[in-house]
Amino acid sequence: MANKRDYYEILGISKNANDEQIKAAFRKKALEFHPDRNKAEDAEQKFKDINEAYQILSDSEKRSKYDQFGHAGVSGAGTGGAGFEGGFGGFGDIFDAFFGGSQSSSGRKSSYRGSDLEYPIRLTFEEAVFGGEKAITIEKLFQCDLCKPTNCSNCNGTGQIKRAQRTMFGQFTQVVGCQTCNGTGQSFDTKCNKCRGAGRYKDSKNLFVTIPQGIDDGMQIRLQGEGEPGLGGGASGDLYVLVKVEEHNIFERSGNNIEMSINLNIPTLVLGGTITIPTIQGEENLTIVPGTQSGQVFRIRGKGIVDVREKNKRGDQIITVYIKIPKKLNKEQRDLYQKLQMITEDDTKKSVSDWLKNKIKDTFS
Ligand SMILES: [Zn+2]
Ligand SMILES: [Zn+2]
Repeated sequence: MANKRDYYEILGISKNANDEQIKAAFRKKALEFHPDRNKAEDAEQKFKDINEAYQILSDSEKRSKYDQFGHAGVSGAGTGGAGFEGGFGGFGDIFDAFFGGSQSSSGRKSSYRGSDLEYPIRLTFEEAVFGGEKAITIEKLFQCDLCKPTNCSNCNGTGQIKRAQRTMFGQFTQVVGCQTCNGTGQSFDTKCNKCRGAGRYKDSKNLFVTIPQGIDDGMQIRLQGEGEPGLGGGASGDLYVLVKVEEHNIFERSGNNIEMSINLNIPTLVLGGTITIPTIQGEENLTIVPGTQSGQVFRIRGKGIVDVREKNKRGDQIITVYIKIPKKLNKEQRDLYQKLQMITEDDTKKSVSDWLKNKIKDTFS
């Protein structure tokens, strides 16, 4: 026992500390290292040390023995086994007495959160863009309301089994989870036809899923508590609705923008004009400027998709214009194109010869 830490040091107080200071120091340290809150590996050991130190220093008789003789003065039978009396469970009881108990006593029973569930949902392009309600049917486990849980007879509902162990340092109590009830402290003695005593049964449920406006392919909608029920009083899991959005035959989504392409005839590209194009908010007029090139991009602001998170943010519609070359011409069109060809032939020849000249220059320079 020579390597044991000093009790005053453990609580972080001076040798002259009064009862109030000891109590305050214990309260602070115990809250800090309680295994329910502190997940550090050595938290449980520190919590035990803190409890042990408090048991000795809060008792004036034990404290004076400790002050005179050190650890030797308070260990063993002479002090009523204060050192390890009750094991971890016993220390938990002190904690309960100090802090009101609910936290520690619930912490000792195991409860399991119910499983999360996933449900894939297919939306049309419009359903995703505009949002709305969608009915789904899910299959899942439900809490059986016919079978009322009773305390597990193996562990008396505590979820834990205490095993006494005698060692040369005194009696330890080892606490292990109850195997019969998986540490939940509950069992279902009356077995109904619905769940056959499992406490949960499989069934289907109809749900309405609110589709937020602007949701996109690959996003998830979380329905809190719509997963499977927990065990031993544990919380229910969540339901994740996984969104798959179908393709549209005209529109393509890019973030909150809607992209589309359109083929225009030669006169409209050359001379310009006004065309009507579809948007998700109805038809819109688009002005094609004279001399528009194939592949040129036009943008109509604010005709895209509402942002799924920021309702006042909206994307644009982006239109890429391509040239439509006719494969068949009627007599009149053919005559006009031939006339057009004749009067632009010089231009064509000039541009070809310019191109050749530059090519030769590039090659020999
Ligand atoms: Zn049990
Ligand atoms: Zn049942």
